[in-house]
Amino acid sequence: MAMWGEMQQLLREVTTELGCSPSVYSVLKEPRRVLIVQVPVRRAGGTTEHFTAYRSQHNNACGPYKGGIRFHPAVTVDEVKALSAAMTIKCRVVNIPFGGAKGGVVVDPGTLDDSELEQLARGYVDVLGTNLGPDKDIPAPDVFTNSRIMAWMFDEFSRRSGANHFSFITGKPAQIGGSRGREEATGHGVGVVALRAMRRQGLDPVGARVAVQGFGNVGANAAAMLAREGCRVVACSDAGGGLHDPAGLPVDDLLAWEAAHPGRTIGEARLGRPIRSADPLYVPADVVIPAALEEQITGDTAGAVQAPIIVEAANGPTTRAGHARLLADGRTVVPDVLANAGGVTVSYFEWVQDLNSYFWDLEDVRARLAVFMERSFDDVVAEAGGAADLRRAAYRLAVRRLADAMAARGWL
Ligand code: NAD
Repeated sequence: MAMWGEMQQLLREVTTELGCSPSVYSVLKEPRRVLIVQVPVRRAGGTTEHFTAYRSQHNNACGPYKGGIRFHPAVTVDEVKALSAAMTIKCRVVNIPFGGAKGGVVVDPGTLDDSELEQLARGYVDVLGTNLGPDKDIPAPDVFTNSRIMAWMFDEFSRRSGANHFSFITGKPAQIGGSRGREEATGHGVGVVALRAMRRQGLDPVGARVAVQGFGNVGANAAAMLAREGCRVVACSDAGGGLHDPAGLPVDDLLAWEAAHPGRTIGEARLGRPIRSADPLYVPADVVIPAALEEQITGDTAGAVQAPIIVEAANGPTTRAGHARLLADGRTVVPDVLANAGGVTVSYFEWVQDLNSYFWDLEDVRARLAVFMERSFDDVVAEAGGAADLRRAAYRLAVRRLADAMAARGWL
């Protein structure tokens, strides 16, 4: 089943379970608005190519829409719908005043030169026009987009509106209103909840074995954070391959190797035994962190996961069937809507800092992030009330908070 279909099914089940009025599901079952546009880019050869782009605005009952933009050839409208709904849930799980959105452009950014990439970034803002804005819909980075792209988008929005609107977009460079700690935030937050999950199960994080699939922004920062806390990072991988060492990989050396060899897979670094991209999910470990793409752990593969704790750093890395199998096998799954909410939480911090033109230091950002992540983890565990399914608990918590807000606004 497609990820969007699974999301709708879960929302239907949870609204029924909570005894919500049927209008709660009827609001949540589709985004409020889905924009499908064509963004023109003048290619180096002189021709103009149009790239299909999406913005899905799911629900804004509790604040402006908020969500990343990914540049990826496999982006689909159903994917952005599902991710926008997940963002609605995520913002309610961590209780920040945003609603859920998501954007995507169907493109392989590796095929564009710098000038074409800049045109695409600026064009996305231009074509979506007044649908975006600091009190309407606030974009952020996601797969294959970064602070440089956010800077172009911020500049384009500011040029169009004739004033600097730093709070328009998050994930910007520090010199133009970015927050300290935003780059590392999602991975750092993953680390915070992984530590909380280990301690809850009586596992000492010092020496605990952690395996990470995906060594990008989220995976690498989660690995670095957990290594600093004394965990043994036994496996890491990227799209091209990976490395395994039961004694623990030297994460700092791996990060340095990666920085020195752009475009190469970490599987080529001679710092561990080479493995395949998917292997970190299945090596002996205490915690597995899928931090790459969707649908990595399925009904067919979940039985091979050995770790007692799975922390979903990527969005939707486990299919419904995969999740059911993990729970049946007694594993704890910390769901994506909780585990990777550190990114949107520090995006919220960035927005707050921009609105106030007053910036916090890194220790302050990390400390505040830990408060939000730990409190949210505890809220979800309390909601579960001893039940194993933390995903359902997170959705119940979020839908109840959202339904209360929509009722207060007279939407139901
Ligand atoms: P990224 O582009 O920085 O990194 C992705 C990594 O995954 C890369 O190392 C890539 O090589 C690897 N990868 C891709 N396909 C793979 C495969 N089949 N097997 C193993 N590795 C593979 O992206 P990111 O920002 O780290 O995002 C990763 C995930 O986290 C995505 O699902 C994204 O939606 C989610 N997420 C990101 C943020 C954020 O702040 N960046 C926030 C919330 C959720």
